Amino acid sequence: MTAYSDKKVARSRGKVYLIGAGPGDPTLITVKGLELLKRAEVLVYDYLATPKLLKFVPKEAELIYAGKKGGQCHAHTQEEINQMLVDHACAGKIVVRLKGGDPFIFGRGGEELEELARHNIAFEVVPGVTSATAAATYAGVPITHREYTASVAFITGHEDPAKETSNIAWDKIATGIGTLVFYMGIKNLSFITENLIKHGRDPETPVVVVRWASTPIQRSVVGTLSTIAEVVKKEKITPPALIVVGEVVKLRDTINWFEKRPLFGKRILVTRTREQASELVRLLEDQGADCVEGATIALAPPDSWEPLDVELNRLGEYQWLVFTSINAIRFFFTRLFERGLDCRSLAGPKIAVVGTSTAEVLKEYGLVADLVPEEFTGEGLAASMVAQGVRGCKVLLPRAKKAREILPEILEENGAEVEIVPVYQNVRPKDYEMVRKELAAGNIDMVTFTSSSTVTNFLDMLGSDREVLAGVKVATIGPITAKTAQKAGLTIDVQPKTYTIPALVESILDFYEK
Ligand code: SAH
Repeated sequence: MTAYSDKKVARSRGKVYLIGAGPGDPTLITVKGLELLKRAEVLVYDYLATPKLLKFVPKEAELIYAGKKGGQCHAHTQEEINQMLVDHACAGKIVVRLKGGDPFIFGRGGEELEELARHNIAFEVVPGVTSATAAATYAGVPITHREYTASVAFITGHEDPAKETSNIAWDKIATGIGTLVFYMGIKNLSFITENLIKHGRDPETPVVVVRWASTPIQRSVVGTLSTIAEVVKKEKITPPALIVVGEVVKLRDTINWFEKRPLFGKRILVTRTREQASELVRLLEDQGADCVEGATIALAPPDSWEPLDVELNRLGEYQWLVFTSINAIRFFFTRLFERGLDCRSLAGPKIAVVGTSTAEVLKEYGLVADLVPEEFTGEGLAASMVAQGVRGCKVLLPRAKKAREILPEILEENGAEVEIVPVYQNVRPKDYEMVRKELAAGNIDMVTFTSSSTVTNFLDMLGSDREVLAGVKVATIGPITAKTAQKAGLTIDVQPKTYTIPALVESILDFYEK
């Protein structure tokens, strides 16, 4: 074997970064790992490296799935993977090799690097949170504890029981080490527990088995060395799972923080637009829910920019520019900048917005609203403008193609001349197959609706397939949305008293607490 440091690594060639993706929760990757992912030109990733990290890889990058699922269905052999890394690096690429957990803990990371070293290719390694510590942590088990154990071992449970001489010193680890964590051990579980007992470990030693640790679908089961194999069989726990053996497992009774979050184990469908879903998703996830984003509305530019373009050329003629939504602001400015203009062309008219959130977004563009009504509705905005006097004023209202007419109507009744220009439109996303499948498989506990159009679009997109909604709970944000849902034949389970996202989440918590 050639030592890596013996040779001068060619500078002009590519480089391979071997990165630990962490155990499953994508946010458990290291900052360094994430920075490098964003620079990848080629990404080679494994089954256990969470696909949720792929969105950070540049669009132009080549993605290669290396497979590796518990021995079966390897997409590529180890030799092929090694060769791919060599080839892409030699082609001068920045290659990220992404592995689940930590690349050097039962990840064959060492073998891949030996191959690179042989070819004189530059590489770096970024460690990751290994699934053993994550599984223990997320199952509420401190892997060491002064009162229980001073040592811990990571052991492969993959060794063939039929092998004549074992690489594992069962007699020594059985009693010589406090906490034992077995990777890849589910198939061999009874072999493992029997061996430990045979070599002197107390059969009453507590054990926790954790599947898909740190993810929303984590499941854990507990038992003792003498019972756990039965429990795992009965509960149908399949790989990937970790086996944690030791007295520390008792601490789970007090520390099981992850699984005790109020919405843990609940899968909630969010039907808002992707742009608007984030607050709801974050609040639900904070409580432990697993959110499925199935937007029923998507935003798109208007069919034509011409009406806006015309007005952009004569903004000076307007006394008021009015924004009734964040989306209107964003699309308006996108077009303004596309036309090579900037905020200076808005120097003429006064700017009114519907509420404090729209005012905040306007500020992002360097503009302070001249008017924010006390009541954040179209009616409230109209009243405030009328109070300031709109007779004879020209008002420009860039907004959604279809919207409520109340604001322009009131303004016109009071003598204003209102020009409405569409700057975006709501369209129905084409593909709803993912959501339909999840519903059909019974994987969704609750669906949330935050406007009447989310209800109508959702039901239209499901089509006649209403049976998939059997047993799915329904949460609506307010009375109008609820009415639409009820009219369409849905039964409402959750309905907050105030019509805000935080109140909706509170009501969902109340619902499940009952
Ligand atoms: N390099 C990885 C381990 C790869 S070996 C690491 O450091 O974590 C594959 C084994 O890891 C699986 O069989 C399983 O035992 C364990 N594993 C990986 N991710 C896991 C997860 N999220 N939950 C439970 N076990 C996991």
